[in-house]
Amino acid sequence: MFNLVLFGPPGSGKGTQSANILQTYGLKHISTGDLLRSEVANQTLLGLEAKKFIDQGLLVPDEVVIGMISSMLDECPDARGFIFDGFPRTVEQATALDNLLDFKQTPIQLVLSLEVPQEELTRRIIARGITSGRTDDTEEVVAKRIGEYKSKTAPVADYYKAQGKLKVITGDLNIEQTFTALKKIIDQHILPVA
Ligand code: AMP
Repeated sequence: MFNLVLFGPPGSGKGTQSANILQTYGLKHISTGDLLRSEVANQTLLGLEAKKFIDQGLLVPDEVVIGMISSMLDECPDARGFIFDGFPRTVEQATALDNLLDFKQTPIQLVLSLEVPQEELTRRIIARGITSGRTDDTEEVVAKRIGEYKSKTAPVADYYKAQGKLKVITGDLNIEQTFTALKKIIDQHILPVA
């Protein structure tokens, strides 16, 4: 099994690049943002609770997202591996993920961090908001989301750096150039299926 974390601030292109990676390497995509939005759309109890945080640009409590990840891992025992997108977002989530994967004896092998200048992030998310219909893609909420990223999520990069797993992709790259840079690193770990 090959487990990969795609790391970066809101608007850094994690969703877009996940789609490219999962197609090329046959991995299973786990996006906590997508899972939470689906709970909200289905008006489940979890979704109604999570919506309060999402709409304010705040992180949903750790125990909620860790529970969702645990269920997803159990549902896909035969996966070739997982891409974690938008998770872990706190050091507590990263520790919980390591514990869950230790139990399955399939650790995180690689963490790819997408670094994009802040003005570009805000520009992209506001542009996306026009078509995405996402309630949290507004200028005011985006500022909150970036604040949460800086205070709670950025330390996760150090957590993985200390484990020797972090690789940073930086520069003013378009979608294709970013994927080429990511592929070059992933190819050192796993063969493409397509
Ligand atoms: P995303 O689609 O990854 O940008 O996530 C959208 C929103 O969902 C975030 O602003 C958070 O409110 C919530 N969310 C997604 N993933 C997580 C996570 N791993 N931990 C806490 N909250 C999350």
